[in-house]
Amino acid sequence: MRAAVVNVGDEVLAGDTVNTNASWLCSRLAGRGVSVERVVVVPDDVAAVADEVRRLSDAYDAVVVTGGLGPTPDDVTAEGVARALDRGVDVTDETREAAAGYSGDVSDEAAAVPAGACPIPNQEGVAPGFAVENVFVLPGVPSEMKAVFGEIEHEFEGDEVGVAYVHTEEPESQLVGRVKEARQRFGVKIGSYPGEDGVRLKLTGEEAAVEDARVWLSERV
Ligand code: ATP
Ligand code: MG
Repeated sequence: MRAAVVNVGDEVLAGDTVNTNASWLCSRLAGRGVSVERVVVVPDDVAAVADEVRRLSDAYDAVVVTGGLGPTPDDVTAEGVARALDRGVDVTDETREAAAGYSGDVSDEAAAVPAGACPIPNQEGVAPGFAVENVFVLPGVPSEMKAVFGEIEHEFEGDEVGVAYVHTEEPESQLVGRVKEARQRFGVKIGSYPGEDGVRLKLTGEEAAVEDARVWLSERV
């Protein structure tokens, strides 16, 4: 399973908010064996959300979007996702209730979701998430995003569940040949992360292949 993450928010692009939602989601998805291949941050702008979500929804098995689900004017995520999938927006009983609880506003513009979307309960806040086609939309508030993701995480199953680490004090530049060979031989991904106490090699891929590659590399560094 290949996935992309989209974070909507001017505050992230301005550097006011650190994109912890992206790192949290990437690590949870990777932990389920999903290959996350894009993280894209877009402004609070309907057309920008629509363009990215359309492109990524075509290119990947799943797209996880966070940000801006409330009924405030800068919450454009639902409208952007609707436009990406050529749908209108609808107000359902769930979203109407959520909007009323949030702002007392029960007008039809309040917290609408793309037509045909399936709401995902939000135990930590008022605006529910929703799923439509292969796009899963979560609130921006980190505690709410985590809670709503918990409701749908079983939808994400990949086969890249193997993870192993090999540590070495050799300089990174000298490892190139062996890392390349291990990648080819075992068909695993190998990340090389130099730090103060040497180099940490992170092996990911199919479980048995990762174990074989770990043994092979450990004998050679
Ligand atoms: P609300 O309904 O309360 O407005 P929301 O679902 O509309 O919530 P946002 O308006 O996008 O979410 O953001 C709410 C809060 O979550 C902000 O304080 C923002 O800084 C934080 N937040 C938004 N995006 C991210 C992100 N990518 N990583 C971490 N925090 C974020
Ligand atoms: Mg908001």
